[in-house]
Amino acid sequence: MKRAAWLVLAILWSVPAGAQGKLNVVTTTEDLASVAREVGGDRITVEAIAKGYQDPHFVEAKPSFILKLQKADVLIVVGRELEIGWLPRLIEQSRNAKVQPGGEGYLDASLHATILEMPAGQVTRAMGDLHPQGNPHYWLDPENGKTIAKDIAAKFSERRPNDRASFDKGLADFTAKVDAGEKRWLAEMAPYKGIKVVTYHRSFPNFAARFGLDIVGYVEPKPGIPPSPQHTLDLIGEMKRQNVRLVLMEPYFDSKTPNAIGRATGAEVIVLPPSVGGVKETTDYIALFDYDIKALVDAIKRTGAK
Ligand SMILES: [Zn+2]
Repeated sequence: MKRAAWLVLAILWSVPAGAQGKLNVVTTTEDLASVAREVGGDRITVEAIAKGYQDPHFVEAKPSFILKLQKADVLIVVGRELEIGWLPRLIEQSRNAKVQPGGEGYLDASLHATILEMPAGQVTRAMGDLHPQGNPHYWLDPENGKTIAKDIAAKFSERRPNDRASFDKGLADFTAKVDAGEKRWLAEMAPYKGIKVVTYHRSFPNFAARFGLDIVGYVEPKPGIPPSPQHTLDLIGEMKRQNVRLVLMEPYFDSKTPNAIGRATGAEVIVLPPSVGGVKETTDYIALFDYDIKALVDAIKRTGAK
């Protein structure tokens, strides 16, 4: 009996601390994967479904995504209906109870983030607006990045209590990195407060609010509605009136209309990735802001934009 007890203890001791193995995390976007990686470190594996150079509203639902979701312990989504056009069917087909909305492994990263452009009345996608629950591109404010990381750390610790200390350290390190970065980015943008820009899609309101951009108009009449001739004419008129020198375009849109607007107004069109993986330099969440702020400041200097 005594010998058997020792045997049990010996077996228990021989099992490493992380006996449950790594937490298998799937995120909808590369931005969330980057934050999850910072928090989770070597205690997780993480894979994003959408690539950063794709429009996150419109992702082709491949069967391989269902396989990823079948094996996931945690699914992190942007929420605010960003993924509503392609994710619900994938989740359903995965038949993985953990990652269904409300399941133990499901995390909506928008829950505690600052969400802008909340609609006043009832707005539905039937009206053609892709942002019926407020603006879903909220990760483009580093303050929201920290909030997202906090929620991710809490979810990871809930699923793997033994690794809580590791997740807490990942969160603290990431938060410090974002704080240092934000100080740098704010200083670089400080001379250009109130700079007037036009953007293609409403991807940048959180970014603009944090870094002092004044968004005068959008190439799209409404989020998800392609540019119309009348809207483009009105926008050109407004840009001339306000002397707007910059049009910011996400990498996944057709540059035809922005270029025409550029020719008509003398404004420069620059591609500004809203996501990690949007261009090859934006390798993680911090690098995304480093790249976008530099691209913006360079363009402001080049064009003399005000
Ligand atoms: Zn959008």
